[in-house]
Amino acid sequence: MFDPPFPPDRTPPHRLRCDVAVLGAGFGGSLIACCLRACGRSVALIDSGRLPRFALGETLTPYAAALLTALAERYRLNWLPPLLDPADGDRGGPGVRSGRHRGTVWAPVGPVGGNGGGEEAGAPLIVPAVGLGGALWHRGDVDAFAAARAVAADAVFFDRTALHSAERRSGGGYLLTGTRDERGVAPAGFVHKPDSPVRIEADFLIDAGPPGGTGRTDGDAGLAGLLGLPDGLSTLASRTRLTFAHLSALDPPNLPIADQNDPADEAIVHHVFADGWYRELRFADGTASVARSGLFEEPVPGVAGANGDGSNGAWADPFRLVGWGGLAERHGRSVHAAPETGPCSPGRFQRRVGRVAGADYALLPAAAAAIDPLHDTDLTHTAAAVLRLGDLLDSHWGRPSQAAALERYAATLDRELTRIDGLAAPAYAALGDWETFRLAVQLHDAAAADLSADEEGGEFLLAENADFTAAASDFAAGVGRRSAAELAAALRARLPHAADRFGVSA
Ligand SMILES: Cc1cc2nc3c(=O)[nH]c(=O)nc-3n(C[C@H](O)[C@H](O)[C@H](O)COP(=O)(O)OP(=O)(O)OC[C@H]3O[C@@H](n4cnc5c(N)ncnc54)[C@H](O)[C@@H]3O)c2cc1C
Repeated sequence: MFDPPFPPDRTPPHRLRCDVAVLGAGFGGSLIACCLRACGRSVALIDSGRLPRFALGETLTPYAAALLTALAERYRLNWLPPLLDPADGDRGGPGVRSGRHRGTVWAPVGPVGGNGGGEEAGAPLIVPAVGLGGALWHRGDVDAFAAARAVAADAVFFDRTALHSAERRSGGGYLLTGTRDERGVAPAGFVHKPDSPVRIEADFLIDAGPPGGTGRTDGDAGLAGLLGLPDGLSTLASRTRLTFAHLSALDPPNLPIADQNDPADEAIVHHVFADGWYRELRFADGTASVARSGLFEEPVPGVAGANGDGSNGAWADPFRLVGWGGLAERHGRSVHAAPETGPCSPGRFQRRVGRVAGADYALLPAAAAAIDPLHDTDLTHTAAAVLRLGDLLDSHWGRPSQAAALERYAATLDRELTRIDGLAAPAYAALGDWETFRLAVQLHDAAAADLSADEEGGEFLLAENADFTAAASDFAAGVGRRSAAELAAALRARLPHAADRFGVSA
């Protein structure tokens, strides 16, 4: 467990006037807070929970590492590179659990998840990490570490603070009102105030929390709820469910990847079933982050088992699976570690906010949508958006050009979220057809490999690239209708620069 002086010993005031209020002190929120402080903006960092916390989403792709390296240089964030350096034995700082991300193994298992699964239903697809590689992060540790860095940079941190309203001020900006749970933090001799009122005036708002459901309590819709932003869920094609947890005592698998000398130095393994996938990420201390995903069926009133085992999408025994590397036996010996309440199953995973920025507010990608973790896109996308939003606010702050720049931010983010959805949904549609599923992975990787895109001001996963969009749409329309060989030939023809990625093994 991360053990810095956190929560910080600075109690926030009950009233504050600042340039920017950031909702959510996860990695994304703390990172943008640090960037804004480096540009001289005053910042309130507001989180409804307390840190350290349980959080999943730990794969930091090589693409994310490259973007975060650029961000660290741009804003002189000296604490960030050690978290990205997979060769560093100390791994990010004292007590911050992390590991190396050397690549991804996609291992086909048939036919369906659960005890019906068999082992080794085809040759695995092994995708080595490019460049320096990426990292695995224990997000509870990393997020607390990043929030402590934001506090050290003089962001005012309001933990355990629930916001109830955001009123527009007549002169511009917002008045946020809420309550801070101060139980246990009042100095000796003072009366504990379970719900102390908080008033924060800010010229600009950033939502860096989740978009609803996956991390929020019922009725807590974040900035989308406070500002009455429209729902955009109907625009998403992905319909999936997910169960995730941390386990301890999960033995290492015996996997077909070359060098496993370092126990923290393993590839990420996706077991691909005909009805979903399971994956585990392992840390050196024996903790493993595990997740199982599958298609989500809308519950039908009066009809039991629309999702197999439960109408909200929870599997009765989610991690009891037969798969590669002795999965069933290893799980038999593992112990549930976190969260305390048992594995998380948020029902249908997808969320989407319909308007992701305005003249005086912006949502980070994870606040704008939850699409699907299959391709590990989210932290990378967050890094790309923080780079873009940080630059934008630095160059246009308070100028007439700010509104137009935020319109461009919104249009870009919308296209990028559409791209992520457009790459995830066909992969799920291809489950059960290993060769087509492999193509869906390779299509994502072709977009992710184009690191130059962001460095040159391009969009995440080539979202603005018309040729790639046409190829991806054509592929999505062909899944289930055309053979893998036909789909591969079409991809090679449409994307000649990436043609050698798209092959079928038979
Ligand atoms: C099972 C699973 C696996 C995943 N795997 C990956 C992966 O391998 N790689 C990857 O890149 N991504 C992955 N993701 C996605 C990833 O978890 C998210 O993109 C990531 O957590 C976003 O980080 P963040 O810091 O922006 O927000 P979060 O981690 O969601 O943090 C948000 C913060 O906001 C706070 N908060 C919530 N509501 C409010 C409120 N109303 N007001 C103020 N604060 C609030 C929370 O307490 C929290 O501290 C995965 C997600 C899941 C569920």
